[in-house]
Amino acid sequence: MVGHGRDIQFWTACWFGEEPLANRFPNLFCLESCKHVAVADRLVEENGVFRFRARWKRRPNSTCEVRELQEIAGALSDVSFGTGQDYWVWKLNASGSFTVNSMRRLVQKVRSSDLGTGFQWNSWAPIKVNFLAWRLSLDRIPTLMALARRQVNLESTICRFCGEMDESADHLFVGCGFTQVVWDFVARWCNIRPFYALDVKDLVNMHMHVNGPRKWQKAYYTVILTTIWSIWKCRNEVIFNQKELKTERLIEEIRTLSYLWVRNRSKSLGLTWGNWSVFDLSCMVS
Ligand SMILES: [Zn+2]
Repeated sequence: MVGHGRDIQFWTACWFGEEPLANRFPNLFCLESCKHVAVADRLVEENGVFRFRARWKRRPNSTCEVRELQEIAGALSDVSFGTGQDYWVWKLNASGSFTVNSMRRLVQKVRSSDLGTGFQWNSWAPIKVNFLAWRLSLDRIPTLMALARRQVNLESTICRFCGEMDESADHLFVGCGFTQVVWDFVARWCNIRPFYALDVKDLVNMHMHVNGPRKWQKAYYTVILTTIWSIWKCRNEVIFNQKELKTERLIEEIRTLSYLWVRNRSKSLGLTWGNWSVFDLSCMVS
């Protein structure tokens, strides 16, 4: 934003409109004798009015140069600026101040559109949990089948949960009999119809197809992310620490972890364990 106009470049900075004047008026910019001149050197106050004062290599004389000259004089005719310092404004935030959060939202938007996944990040679940689900949606977690594809030498690629099929991401999180019991529990607990996911992408988008208040949807999505996290953790415990597989323990972990995350991160202090254990979110969404 222009204060005294001495620290902002007239042609090449983005101070008037959405793009630099050099882009809007390229023919005039070619004629400019000093490309990096400041705003205060080209807009000069005369009798309380700011006027465009140019210094050209030669006078504009072609049709397009003259047209651009008329346009720039017209556009800048009602510009005015003050006497304080020139200063920065952060446009992604209504207050004009930079925040990490606004930058993070932009990065997420660009990143998800770049990757074409449309993955939604959820602020009630920890970053590590979001990150795992995001990688899962891209089929980029090191399942036994993924390792085998990368020529890692393995004794077996069979799923350690059911012992029946190869451990791909789709099998481990969607198709496996053990995991299906866990998802059935989640559906009953959250009072929704049983899941019919075909693959992991369906799973991470599941919350979008359930009707309910926004906070309810977000809480439900947190539960899905927590379940993905807990299944992966449980699978690692079984493979690397030879832990016994127990559905009840996994289910309890999903309920407890998601409660802690939603209660702390949503700042819903009215949410009690009693409400959460029956997925009664009336205190949050009313
Ligand atoms: Zn299995």
